[in-house]
Amino acid sequence: MRHFRIASLLSCARGELPADNGRSAMSAAIDTGTGWLAGARRVQSPNCDERPCEPELIVVHNISLPPGEFGGPWIDRLFLNRLAVDAHPYFREIAGVEVSSHVLIRRDGELVQYVPFHRRAWHAGASSWAGRERCNDFAIGIELEGVDDVAYTDVQYARLAEVVAALVSAYPSLSFERIAGHSDISPGRKTDPGPAFDWARLHRVLKENA
Ligand SMILES: [Zn+2]
Repeated sequence: MRHFRIASLLSCARGELPADNGRSAMSAAIDTGTGWLAGARRVQSPNCDERPCEPELIVVHNISLPPGEFGGPWIDRLFLNRLAVDAHPYFREIAGVEVSSHVLIRRDGELVQYVPFHRRAWHAGASSWAGRERCNDFAIGIELEGVDDVAYTDVQYARLAEVVAALVSAYPSLSFERIAGHSDISPGRKTDPGPAFDWARLHRVLKENA
């Protein structure tokens, strides 16, 4: 496994960037040696394993637990296999599933990372992109706390663009064109991030920050 260590990224921890360098003052930084994002709350999920190849795709998802409710500890608990099945009827339905994503962006913009980027997280399931199956092998999963038909928050777009820009800088195998929704790679099975997600806005913000 090759690692790409970008000195400029390693030194540009949140808030330390000069204001005139064209990047957001909140730019995210990735240590490609460890695969962790600076400034993210770290909650290490056991639901991951070795990747067979470099990350080549960023997959945008949504999640809310219980469905349609925001806040609360349940997404962390799900990715830690510690969901309290008695806390909500839906939790019983998903009891025992072992899933994870690399990153969660909460409604208030909080970043949480569960799996280092060079490890394989378990977010895509049966999926296909550009003729390749098993997208988890080569994808980075980013969950937005949300549902398909409720507008995502301004700060979620800002954080998502920061994380995408940091990933593209850190991993040359990624690019702004290599971003898909879960619904794109698992059509008919998954609908997230849904019609509420404004792809044009994401690409506009990425361009503005570039
Ligand atoms: Zn999804």
